[in-house]
Amino acid sequence: MSDIVKIVRTVHDLRKITAEWRDRGHTIGLVPTMGALHAGHISLVKQAKKKTDRAVVSIFVNPTQFAPNEDLSRYPRDEAGDLKKLLDADTDLVWAPNVAEMYPEGFSTSVRAGSTAKDLEGAFRPHHFDGVTTVCAKLFNQVTPNVAFFGEKDFQQFTVLRQMVRDLDIPVKLIGVPTKRDADGLALSSRNAYLSEAERKIAPALYAVISALAAEVAAGADIPSAVTAAKRKLASAGFAKVDYLEVRDAETLDPAATASGRPLRVLAACWLGKTRLIDNVAV
Ligand code: AMP
Repeated sequence: MSDIVKIVRTVHDLRKITAEWRDRGHTIGLVPTMGALHAGHISLVKQAKKKTDRAVVSIFVNPTQFAPNEDLSRYPRDEAGDLKKLLDADTDLVWAPNVAEMYPEGFSTSVRAGSTAKDLEGAFRPHHFDGVTTVCAKLFNQVTPNVAFFGEKDFQQFTVLRQMVRDLDIPVKLIGVPTKRDADGLALSSRNAYLSEAERKIAPALYAVISALAAEVAAGADIPSAVTAAKRKLASAGFAKVDYLEVRDAETLDPAATASGRPLRVLAACWLGKTRLIDNVAV
């Protein structure tokens, strides 16, 4: 094994390599990321290695999915650390374009995310999913993966992208990978780096509360009152503000007033100090 991972920074160079792989009949797996990699990202890379012949990881902090008031400028970046982790995970290629390569002078076309993007994250981050669908459409065209791997951690993002691929007939299969958590239940996230020591101690309450809510709903609890009680628990654990805590249809993300027999998902976003955490679990 080489001691450096192959890193490519232009679409031109990327296409040469992927064309050669396809000529040889290799299948390509893509793991899109914004870097600051942790074990959650690496679990996606492992799936790509397992299910396809060539694992490509993209690292691109996508400006178009951040609103002007969001954390783009302070988003954690650690390319050297990322490359080391990706080498250890036996990644075949790292696709790390800069902003000018991804959005050259004159760039102005975008993919508008569909109905599954309209609320939850979409209500609080209005243009976020259009940024995600646009950059992922570009990544799919650049890398031409057979399969792309996304974390269930960002469950709505995965749903929105599945809808995009279906609606636009993009020839890629999407696979969702279960959320990796710390031992205390906190979902791994690059944004956990923002938490103070005290906040980090409170943070696992989010997973505990949504897991308990999911169990209550599965046992037949009245959804609106169980949700109200769960919001109260989050507030008393120390979460300053709950953007949303909802029980939704796991496929359409439509509101679920009752446990209808269809698969349901509990999804939440809330604030600990200046850090916004999201998480979700299956009912
Ligand atoms: P990000 O770099 O945060 O954009 O995430 C890149 C990919 O990694 C997305 O598909 C995320 O859903 C996924 N991901 C992030 N955190 C986790 C986690 N804790 N477990 C599994 N996948 C994750």
